[in-house]
Amino acid sequence: MNKTIYLDNAATTRTAKEAVDAMLPFFSESYGNASSIYKLGADSKRAVNEAREIIARSIGASPQEIYFTAGGSEADNWALIAAAEACETKGKHIITSKIEHHAVLHTCDYLEKRGFSVTYLDVDENGLVRPDELEAAIRHDTILISIMFANNEIGTLQPIKEIGEIARRRGILFHTDAVQAYGHVPVSLSEYPVDMLSASGHKIGGPKGIGFLYIRQGVKIRSFIHGGQQERGRRAGTENVPGIVGFGAAAGKAMDTLSERVEKETGMRDYLIRRITQEIPYCRLNGDRVKRLPNNVNVSFQFIEGESLLIMLDMKGICASSGSACTSGSLDPSHVLLAIGLPHEIAHGSLRLTLSEENTTEELDYVVETIKEITDKLRRMSPLYEDFIKKNGENRQG
Ligand SMILES: *Cc1c(COP(=O)(O)O)cnc(C)c1O
Repeated sequence: MNKTIYLDNAATTRTAKEAVDAMLPFFSESYGNASSIYKLGADSKRAVNEAREIIARSIGASPQEIYFTAGGSEADNWALIAAAEACETKGKHIITSKIEHHAVLHTCDYLEKRGFSVTYLDVDENGLVRPDELEAAIRHDTILISIMFANNEIGTLQPIKEIGEIARRRGILFHTDAVQAYGHVPVSLSEYPVDMLSASGHKIGGPKGIGFLYIRQGVKIRSFIHGGQQERGRRAGTENVPGIVGFGAAAGKAMDTLSERVEKETGMRDYLIRRITQEIPYCRLNGDRVKRLPNNVNVSFQFIEGESLLIMLDMKGICASSGSACTSGSLDPSHVLLAIGLPHEIAHGSLRLTLSEENTTEELDYVVETIKEITDKLRRMSPLYEDFIKKNGENRQG
């Protein structure tokens, strides 16, 4: 195969044709500022409103509860910082988990430096937060809980309904980073009691640099970018009209195709998991087998350096990841894999494959065969593996 096989959809997705087509006029003839009153501006405003309606409908919110941001990271920063500031007279304690995205974790670091205290909940060996542990961590001064909907590395889906119910019962604001879940599994506010929710365009076939924060009506949090009256005065700045329009088109497509995609991706995911774990020795699946994003496969190979595996896969035309895109390139093992209890050397030998509906069985077969060849080759070069085989004999399942 000499075409690229893209299995890194958790890092970003190909921009959907529908999104590109919807955006193009707003880079050329329809360049008006959505705040201007003449017709050229009104065209932009109308397009922004339509996108806002599509996105609101996709989670069961009302359009006034959707605030466009410059991506998922901004939405996370806004939710945490502004909610913390708005509630600080009530208390200064925040609860989150050890496996959040860095957009949440590093914002929590920042808030700790500003005098807030943060509890980082442990997760179990599959990456699940336990609602009873969360409830036990609540203090009289807890003002905010932030737990991600789905993990970007191991795909684990958290018990968001239970967590939201606890937060609501105890009168604490609840934010969820749904960047990996939105557009990939049903995320409906009628089912999940959340106060704030972050999502991002480029993880669902929209353009990069656009996202939204849902803020439930009545939740009092501060505005984030100060300036003009855009986004009802809470997030100033001339609207990213092409970005918003592209995000709306991608969200519309994602909703229309959701159930068939979930089914197709789940089938491909399970096929990959089955073949890899059965055909490659000394290998384990990371994350929950069932409570898992339909497109996420994360496996660790003993006696393998993840970075070498990625480079060799790249030479075979396969795009994959060893952790999250942000941690690749650093030598620290992923905080998520450490939190589920993997020893450093196993965490280092991890591979994340994230599918899209565009992948084919033929591609998956090629990928499995290639991983088999590469892991075999890398192990033959590993002194640790050589020692291990001397002691234990070849090919015993680890
Ligand atoms: C990608 C990602 C983000 C960041 O979103 P950007 O739009 O790239 O800023 C935040 N949280 C999770 C879980 C993600 O996967």
